[in-house]
Amino acid sequence: MKYPEFRWSFSKHKTLMTCQAKYYKQYYQSHNGWREDTSALGRHTYRLKNLTTLEIEVGNKVHQFIEEVFMNSYQPGIHTEEEMFCSIWNEIMVLVETSLHHPEVWYEDPRNKMLFEAYYNSEIPDSKLEETKERLKQIVQNFFQSDTFREVTQNHYPVWKTSEKFRHMMNGNIKVQIKMDLLYSDKKTKVVHLVDWKTGKIREEDRYQLALYSHYISHAFKRDLSQIKLVNEYLLDNQRKDYQLQQIDIQNMREVVANSISYMQSFLEVPDSNVPLDQSFFEQTANEQVCVFCSFKEICKKV
Ligand code: SF4
Repeated sequence: MKYPEFRWSFSKHKTLMTCQAKYYKQYYQSHNGWREDTSALGRHTYRLKNLTTLEIEVGNKVHQFIEEVFMNSYQPGIHTEEEMFCSIWNEIMVLVETSLHHPEVWYEDPRNKMLFEAYYNSEIPDSKLEETKERLKQIVQNFFQSDTFREVTQNHYPVWKTSEKFRHMMNGNIKVQIKMDLLYSDKKTKVVHLVDWKTGKIREEDRYQLALYSHYISHAFKRDLSQIKLVNEYLLDNQRKDYQLQQIDIQNMREVVANSISYMQSFLEVPDSNVPLDQSFFEQTANEQVCVFCSFKEICKKV
């Protein structure tokens, strides 16, 4: 089988650190699973890979909405708290309905979404939906009250185009994938602001992610680190963290990425064509709590 070119990303790194078996299923066993000539197991794995959760979907849709707000220039009468909440919640409810009552839509074409909660539990309790709705309300409210929203809309700072936010940089001959949420610059000071919206809890790794982006910006757009301002906006908890990174942070991050690339490549039989070792080399996690929320648990011998 021909695999895609080997690339490094933070999400790939996190998956491998969580469970080697999950990493194998996610990035190798599911490959080509959208094609009819792929084995039944490959197609099944691909379907499971595309399961999503209420929490992830809320996060995705919040990111999409925010992107639209800034890309299409904020329009006060149109981009309102109510509009954001209602449009996202309506989409979530459509997904809930399809997942529970029309699973064939996903089964026949797994590029359509299916909720993990509906697939594995066959029901989504009202309490869970109520909790999700409250989370979304909180997130929406905090977005419109965030310093970033105020700063960008009041000062009319120019926001960088989407194409400038999806990039990759090279680490040796390996592509490192980068996806930045919001980039804007202050015309007077020339300072570049990089904002990462978070809809979950604060995590230590968030800082590393920003360090990677800042390294990229400083090279690609020829900015000194002192001209790059990094922000994590935690929309659920209404918290903001500002960082001004130093060279040492960049060095640490580069070390983490280089070690992670070597570790990932130690699971390849043919590194040049990204061919993995046999499945038996990918160990299952010892942490069973992880398995409870794993999309692949149905096909994993562990559970
Ligand atoms: S069910 Fe557990 S052991 Fe199996 S792939 Fe998922 S996380 Fe790994």
